[in-house]
Amino acid sequence: MRLSTRMGRLGTESAFEVLARARALEAQGRTITHLEIGEPDFATPAHIVDAAVRALEEGHTHYVPSPGIPELREAVAEFLERTGRLATSPDRVIVTPGAKPILWYVLHAVCEEGDEVLIPDPSFPIYGSLASFVGATPIPVPLREEHGFRLDPSELASLVSDRTKLLIVSSPENPCGSALTREDVEAIASIAIEHDLLVLSDEIYWAICYEGRKHVSVLDVDGMADRTVLLDGWSKTFAMTGWRLGFGVFPAWLVEPVTRLVINSVSCTAAFGQHAAIAALRGPWEPVEAMVAEFARRRDVIVDGLNAIDGISCVRPGGAFYVFPNVRGLGFPSREVERHLLDDAGVAVLSGTGFGIHGEGYVRLSYAASVERIRGALDAIGASVQGLVR
Ligand code: PLP
Repeated sequence: MRLSTRMGRLGTESAFEVLARARALEAQGRTITHLEIGEPDFATPAHIVDAAVRALEEGHTHYVPSPGIPELREAVAEFLERTGRLATSPDRVIVTPGAKPILWYVLHAVCEEGDEVLIPDPSFPIYGSLASFVGATPIPVPLREEHGFRLDPSELASLVSDRTKLLIVSSPENPCGSALTREDVEAIASIAIEHDLLVLSDEIYWAICYEGRKHVSVLDVDGMADRTVLLDGWSKTFAMTGWRLGFGVFPAWLVEPVTRLVINSVSCTAAFGQHAAIAALRGPWEPVEAMVAEFARRRDVIVDGLNAIDGISCVRPGGAFYVFPNVRGLGFPSREVERHLLDDAGVAVLSGTGFGIHGEGYVRLSYAASVERIRGALDAIGASVQGLVR
């Protein structure tokens, strides 16, 4: 028996590998601080859980329409309008089990052999993995520390070719925590319009922005709604990673093909969860605000703590719940730093190279852990890298 050739092009997420190694150490009795995981450590707000229980009791346990139940598609359109992000109509919204399938569907629907996909580097590893899987060529667009880890429009423009089909942008960004500015999105949009590119705007971290910064998107620019797929979902904003609930908003021509992909893959998203998703969008915003305020507090603790360690320097990120410190001063490749911190300090972090070639020299730490655990991890990292600096 032999796997298909295309399986050789499908990557993975290093977070799951590091988690497995950390769990193996825990099984041997070691205590590990998990800073590798990309999920809020908060409970899903009670009113959302209650809505799911009610939906189950009311019998929402059957197949529902593939693009999502009409009430939820309406609630998504209404939510996007109310939060000042996008005026759209419910028939452009497709609900999926988590936001990840939106990537899967878009890449399968539009890309083929010979196409190029522009992908920020470092970024969420699934972008490049799926682009390669469908036979396209991922073209990394470097996110440089000296440019605040944001896409540099002139560098982006220089990488567009007549084979470029799709541009993926993400803000706030995983793993860097950088957030695009108004000038950035305007420059990116004008490149997309000039070269007739489809844009996939991954805004899964949109609600987690600091210093009162308002989230901005390429969708804010006139003319972009017809060439942009918005990817978003409930996982991060409402601490609902395990519920598997996401959505996309599509240009009209993509709605039917993507719906056909949903029919061919998952049929529909779990019915009772969709009722909980409505409760999340229409319910109180305070739990989200409280979570973001706590993330902001932790961000400052972790940034200040890392900057106090010899050989490490860390930019203060504008959004998401990751820091992406520069560890070049330690004198070892990022993969070795990842391994050393897990084995010696008992702190699970991810090598920047898990997010692309331009991640060399960096590691990602998620601060989805209590301040107390973060402080403990910082002490352990500081002690462990003493003597490592060369
Ligand atoms: N996009 C980015 C940038 C992410 O970091 C993640 C999850 O880590 C996703 C999309 C996928 O989100 P979901 O868990 O809803 O599939």
